[in-house]
Amino acid sequence: MSRDPSTLLAHVGRDPFANHGIVNPPVYHASTILYPTLAALEEAERTPYEGTRYGRRGTPTTFALQDAVAKLEGGYRCVALSSGLAAITTALLAFLAAGDHLLMVDTTYGPVRRFCDTLLRGLGIETTYYDPLADPAPLIRTNTRVVYLESPGSLTFEVQDIVRAAASARAAGTVSILDNTWSAGLYLQPFELGVDVSIQAATKYLVGHSDVMLGTITTTEPCWPRVRRASALLGAAAAPDDCYLALRGMRTLATRLDRHQRTAIEIAHWLETRPEVVRVLHPALPSCPGHEVWRRDFSGSNGLLSVVLRPSSRESLAAMLDGMGLFRMGYSWGGFESLIVPFDPQSVRTATRWTENGPCLRLHCGLENIRDLVADLEAGLLRLGAAS
Ligand SMILES: *Cc1c(COP(=O)(O)O)cnc(C)c1O
Repeated sequence: MSRDPSTLLAHVGRDPFANHGIVNPPVYHASTILYPTLAALEEAERTPYEGTRYGRRGTPTTFALQDAVAKLEGGYRCVALSSGLAAITTALLAFLAAGDHLLMVDTTYGPVRRFCDTLLRGLGIETTYYDPLADPAPLIRTNTRVVYLESPGSLTFEVQDIVRAAASARAAGTVSILDNTWSAGLYLQPFELGVDVSIQAATKYLVGHSDVMLGTITTTEPCWPRVRRASALLGAAAAPDDCYLALRGMRTLATRLDRHQRTAIEIAHWLETRPEVVRVLHPALPSCPGHEVWRRDFSGSNGLLSVVLRPSSRESLAAMLDGMGLFRMGYSWGGFESLIVPFDPQSVRTATRWTENGPCLRLHCGLENIRDLVADLEAGLLRLGAAS
C-alpha cells in the first residue's frame, strides 16, 4: 500500500471481507474469552503477553487500532492504553527500575513531571530535567536508562533536535522515548529519525472529537517485548468502543489536521500584528526556538499556538476570557472546536528560565470559519485593552 498518509489512513486497520463486507471493523466487547481445548489453554500460558486470551489484552477492535497506529508512525508494533498519560507512565516503567536515572525534557507535559517527581522518585528512580534546545548527551550517566523527549514542547513549543538526542541516547545504550502527540504521527516519522519508542495521547488528534481518552505506545522491534510486558502487567487497557472511535477519527485525520494548521498559521500571523501581543509561539514562525530543526524534521503543524500578552491585570484577562464566544476555556486539544487557556510557563520548568512577564494564553484553533475565529479574538483583545 502507498505510504502516503492520506491513502494509508483510509485503509489501515480494517479488512471488510473478513467481516461480511462491512467497511468498518466491528466493536468486540470481551472480558472472558473461551479456550476450546486444554492444549489451547496451555499454549496461552506459554505466551502470557500476546494474543486475544483475555479482554484486558485487547480484542480484535483494539488490535485494528494498534495496527493502524503502528503503520501510521512507521513502527514495529503498538499498544493502546486508557489515556495518553497511562501510555507515558507505562513506557517509563517498562525501562526504569530502582537506582536508574531518567533524562526528562524540561518542556514535558505537566503531569509527566509530577509523575517523575512523586511516584518515580518514590521508586528510587532519579530524574534530571534538560533544556529542550541543548544536546542531552553530556548529562547521560552510566545508570541513565531513558532519554525522554517531547517536541515541540508543551505550551511553549520549543523544538528539540530529535535526531541528535536519539543518536546520543542510542550511542550510550539508552532508550529514547518521544511524546509525538503534537504531530499526531502524521507530520513526523519518529522511527526514521532514530527514536526507539513513540507515544501519542490519541485523546487529541487521532480521536479528534473531544469525547475519548486514549493513549498509544509504538516501538521498534527490540523495544517491543518490554513495552508489551509492562502494559500487560500495569493493566490500563483501552476500551473497545474507544478504540473504534479513535479508528474512525483517524480516517479524517489528514483532512482535519490540514485545516487546523492553515487556520493556526494564519491566526499566528494576525496575532503578531496586534499591539496587545508581545510574542506569538508557533514552530512555523522563524522566531520560535528550534524553528530550523522543525523545518528539517516536520512536514506540517497543527491547530496549537500560544501568545505572550503585554503585562495586564487579572481583571482585564478575565474580561477577555469570560466573554469569548468561540474560543472557550477548557483543557486538552485536538477536537473540532477552538479552545483557549491561560498558563504560567515558569511553574512547569526547572532546568530553564521563562523570562517574559506578561500573561500567556494557549489557543487551539478548531475547524470553525477563520474569519469568525479572528473576530472572536479581536473582540477579546479589545475587551482586554478596555479593562486595563
Ligand atoms: C494531553 C497530553 C498528554 C496526556 O494525554 P491524556 O490522554 O490526556 O492522558 C500527553 N502528552 C501531551 C503532549 C498531551 O498534550
